[in-house]
Parts: sequence; C-alpha cells; structure tokens
Amino acid sequence: MRQFQKSHKLDNVCYDIRGPVVAEADRMQREGIDIIQLNTGNPPHFEMNAPDEVIRDVRLHLKDSEAYCNSQGLFQARKAIVQYYQTQGVMGVDEDDVYIGNGSSELVSFCMSALLNDGDEVLIPMPDYPLWTAAATLAGGKAVHYLCDEQSDWYPDLDDIRAKVTDKTKGIVVINPNNPTGAVYPKEILEGIVKIAEDNGLIIFSDEIYDHIIYDNLPYTHMASLTEDVLVVTLNGLSKSHRVPGFRVGWMVLSGNKECAKDYIEGIHILSTMRLCANVPAQYAIQTSLGGYQSIQDLIAPGGRLHEQRDIVYEGINSIPGLSCTKPSGAMYAFVKIDTEAFNITDDMQFALDLLKREKVLIVQGTGFNWPKPDHFRIVFLPSPIQLNDTIERLRHFMAHYIQE
Ligand code: PLP
Repeated sequence: MRQFQKSHKLDNVCYDIRGPVVAEADRMQREGIDIIQLNTGNPPHFEMNAPDEVIRDVRLHLKDSEAYCNSQGLFQARKAIVQYYQTQGVMGVDEDDVYIGNGSSELVSFCMSALLNDGDEVLIPMPDYPLWTAAATLAGGKAVHYLCDEQSDWYPDLDDIRAKVTDKTKGIVVINPNNPTGAVYPKEILEGIVKIAEDNGLIIFSDEIYDHIIYDNLPYTHMASLTEDVLVVTLNGLSKSHRVPGFRVGWMVLSGNKECAKDYIEGIHILSTMRLCANVPAQYAIQTSLGGYQSIQDLIAPGGRLHEQRDIVYEGINSIPGLSCTKPSGAMYAFVKIDTEAFNITDDMQFALDLLKREKVLIVQGTGFNWPKPDHFRIVFLPSPIQLNDTIERLRHFMAHYIQE
C-alpha cells in the first residue's frame, strides 16, 4: 500500500507543549488517573474566567457575526486596538496597520511566512515560546537562538544577539513579558535591542501577549513606543489577559518604519486575504476588553490569586533541594533549574515522563523551549494554591528519590 509521509518542511518543526509527554498524560487520564496539569497557559481551565461583560458583548453580537468581515478584521475592533496603543505611547499607527487573527498564533505564522526565503535567519530567544522557532522553520527560515541569561534575571544577552547577526538576518523576536521565564525586560534592554535592529536594518517582532500580567508594579515598556526608525511588529491578544484562549482572537500591529517594508506588508496582506478573515464573533470582545476596568488587576495585585500562586511556586521550588528558579515578574510561568551536579539527567523528556508516571504531575521539559541543555523545566502557575502546594510536595518527594535510569 502506498505510504504517505509528512512533508520535509516539518522535519525540524516541533511543539512539545502539546507533545509526547502530553499524549501520555491524555492516555493516563483516559484510564481515570488524575493529573495535575502544569503544561499550558489556559486560564479558564483553572476557573480563571473571562469578565462577564466580554461574554455578554460577544453573545449580543452573534447575529451580526454571520458574514465574513474584512480580512484585517472588524473596523471597530481595529480602532480599539489603535486607541489602546496610543494610550501606551505608540504613535503613528492607524486601523490599516492592524491585523486581527485567529489567535496571535496565526499571525506569528503570517509574519514569518511572508518574510522568509530559504536560509534567511531570524534571531529568536533561547529559551523561547516554541511557536516562533517552529513558524520560522516551517517558512523555510533558520531560527538562530540568542541567549537569555539566567544569571541576569533571564534578560536577553545583547552581546550574544549582536554576535549572531549575519547578512542573512532579517529580524529579532522578543517575548516580553517572557514565556517561559516570567522575565519582564527593563527599558534599557529594549533600547539595546532597538539599537541593534537599527544598526543592522532588522525588523523587531515583539510578542507582548502577557503585557497585562505584570507583578509588583514593575514598569512595562512596549517595544513599539521606543522607535520610529525600525519596523516593529507587535503581537498581542485576549487569550491570557482576558482569559478567552478558546475564542482564538489576537492581533498584530505594524509601527515605526513601514516605508522600508511595503512589499513585505503586501505579503502579510496576501496571507490574511487567503484565509478570508478571522473568527468574527470573538472580534466583538476586543473593544470591551481593551476599554474600562481591567479585571486582570484583581488577579495580579497582592492578595490576588495569580500573585499568590506565583509566590507559592517561587518559594516552593526554591525550598526543594536540587531545584531553583528566579522570581517571575510577569506572565504565568516559572522556568525551573535542575541542579545537574546532583542529578545526572541526560534526557529531560524522560525526566518529564518519569515525573508524570510517578507523581501524576505534567510539566514541559526545557528542551521543548529550545533550551540547549536537559537541565530545566517549565511550570504553569495557574492551578489553585491548594493544587500548587500539593504539586510542590510531589516534586519534593520525586526529587528526593530520583535517579535517571
Ligand atoms: N505568544 C506567547 C509567548 C504565548 O505564550 C502564546 C500562548 O501561550 C501565544 C503567543 C499564542 O497565543 P494565542 O494564539 O492564544 O493568541
């Protein structure tokens, strides 16, 4: 019988956040085994739900949502996005510079596919949110990983970025606040990245999907507010801040030097027209979400659930011999270091599988984030304080006995 193989375009494409360890967890759950799921940033899964008014507005507009809309998205939603960035110090942007997508994920693919020819390089953080590496690779490009340095609160290493620019480099991806490390970058680091982009004629892709989730009143700077000379492609959406990841609604804003990229922008436009438009009902959530009181504040302020859960994970992990992590300043993740002198771990996927089978805790191994060594894993701190405290004790028990076979 003729066998069909997957395309070679997928040879180096992986997305381990939903990879083989998760498949094993699904199998165990089908057998009736309870698993603590710390693998995806999916707030409603942990009773962190959308504000009522967001749901109400989508419901109210269902009847108006039957038809396809403009490929870039509903005008009123794009207008609300423009106004949001105006309040954040991003100028020179209008509705034509906004693309609404089926989640920001779709737009990550568009902005890579429209740009890259075979062999073109994109600088992507290490560790990364793996969609970026996957999308660049699938588009025929080469993901060149630059170091985010754990010794410096996981900030991007500007010297490493500079050293890795070649004549094939087209852009730099920045994820801020960061998944998987929880780092929030200071303005000086972002200015350093702008300078590198300016000196080398690069585009900056700024993934800011966690821009509303910042703890301890830390100041936050939108990359696009820092430059008019570099083309900045900002990605964002409602999945995390407004707890509607299932709605699949995100956006991309082009700002700064658009003159240098007319042809590239036409490419993005072609891709957006090919899929006609993004999910229309969910676009009605945008205006309501971006205006008025931001209920995420109740979760991230001291005493709020996310704030408390962040502290439980940070303190709990650092109390376990052999494990440590920096304090997440944003987002919903901690990237945990395993002391490899104490534990001889050579395969971190095996580590994740062993943890799953013995303690029924599902995490994602660090190499799933293009981290080069088998010495980290990512924890999502969305489960309730009770579940997280339970997780910490399971991890403590596991590490006390763990020897990799
Ligand atoms: N970017 C980052 C850094 C993420 O963590 C995620 C989801 O976890 C996404 C983009 C994609 O989000 P969505 O497609 O739901 O907008």
